[in-house]
Amino acid sequence: MKTYRFLHHGRIAESHDVPADATLLPPVTPSKIVCVGRNYADHAKELGNEAPSEPILFLKPPSALLAPGGTIVRPSASQRVDFEGELAIVIGRTAKDVRAKDWRDYVRGFACANDVTARDLQKKDVQFTRGKSFDTFCPIGPCIEDDLDVSDLRVNTRVNGETRQDGRTSQMIFPPAAMIEFISAIMTLLPGDVILTGTPAGVGPLGAGDTVEVEIEGIGVLRNVVA
Ligand code: ZN
Repeated sequence: MKTYRFLHHGRIAESHDVPADATLLPPVTPSKIVCVGRNYADHAKELGNEAPSEPILFLKPPSALLAPGGTIVRPSASQRVDFEGELAIVIGRTAKDVRAKDWRDYVRGFACANDVTARDLQKKDVQFTRGKSFDTFCPIGPCIEDDLDVSDLRVNTRVNGETRQDGRTSQMIFPPAAMIEFISAIMTLLPGDVILTGTPAGVGPLGAGDTVEVEIEGIGVLRNVVA
């Protein structure tokens, strides 16, 4: 079932049905957003990197969240802001030292996300923090789908209607079970926390006025515009 979070007549509500005059919100309010880098071999290769032998983690701050339909703002500090369409995992139960086989017990559901990245700053800093953390750099939504087998779903990213990324979750180097075991051995995952599972090949820049859509089979379309 799909759950949307929205603002309606001044109140925040969650429901399966969205009134026509409501404004969608990010479907989740995480304490942290944990991201897995280079989790698709073809994407690691396109940026000149080796496929990693264990998950590469970084964080995005919750202040980067952006609602479905919200506007991505490219900071003046960057000349190259990229889209990265990704499957988002939303944690449902406090998770510490989870065994891979139990991963699904700790997950509330799944969403589409866009790991927007200032590529030039990411390369320049080596550390990912600045390049990944600007306000509006984490569009997520449009809903949370709680009943979905995510082992082989199409992840399709379009810019102005043209397909730019077309991968499948089955191509992940570290699938959700391995990711949750690895991450929960490091940090306690809290209900609402989000894991971004990495992006397939085909990343590229966003320009003023672009519309970027991340569509994942069984979840829906996350659509944002670029200022
Ligand atoms: Zn990413």
